[in-house]
Amino acid sequence: MNRRDLLKFSLIQAIALRIIPIKKARASKWSYTGETGADFWGELDPEYQACNLGKAQSPIDLELSVSSNLGSLELNYQDVPLKIVNNDRTIRVDYQPGSNLILDGETYELLQFHFHQPSEHLISGKALDMEAHFVHKNQATGDLVVLAVLMSEGAINQVLDRVWDKIPFGDKKEEASDLIINASNLLPENISQYYRYQGSLTTPPCSEIVTWLVLKQPVEISKLQISRFLEVIGTNARPVQALNNRVTFQSP
Ligand SMILES: [Zn+2]
Repeated sequence: MNRRDLLKFSLIQAIALRIIPIKKARASKWSYTGETGADFWGELDPEYQACNLGKAQSPIDLELSVSSNLGSLELNYQDVPLKIVNNDRTIRVDYQPGSNLILDGETYELLQFHFHQPSEHLISGKALDMEAHFVHKNQATGDLVVLAVLMSEGAINQVLDRVWDKIPFGDKKEEASDLIINASNLLPENISQYYRYQGSLTTPPCSEIVTWLVLKQPVEISKLQISRFLEVIGTNARPVQALNNRVTFQSP
């Protein structure tokens, strides 16, 4: 084996031994702008293919929703101590087991909630200032229900302020606190009017396993609270996706 072959051999060996993490490390590094932005998610990793090829992607514009009697939502949220994570793409609040949403007779456990700026779903072509996603999982099937709360600029949101106070930043990525919060206090008064449709995660791998419930009544958030989020995270909304053959519904 000459020197050149030897070099080639050790390179192959290094890849085989995963000493050089060629694709994976780069692939999983998605973002909201530039070369790893939303237009390219599907090409970054074979596991992200649904982002480009899927036919039931989220978010969407909800304007063409068909009026339908969707019934009222059944939520059982407990008070839990705050655990806030800054993962550079959003601020996420992890929820302890024991809270759930019941939909069509199935129980979905509340795992976490997190935020987007501006809103990901559009109403008649328009984005609101922010959107919160409450992520619930059916432990038996793995299917998700995401309850979305639209947020518009207005008065200070007192409950959110307790969360914002604890946002980890700089080198710190996680903050656990004794402060108790109940996620239901972040919902609007009216939770009986909402949109419903079948879609996907709005971040890679864009899996099409989500029943979306988007509440019609927005909650308020102050300009300062929005700027704080932008300061720490920046804008983080995926552009709207094609509706394709889907029908979306809304409470009358
Ligand atoms: Zn989200």
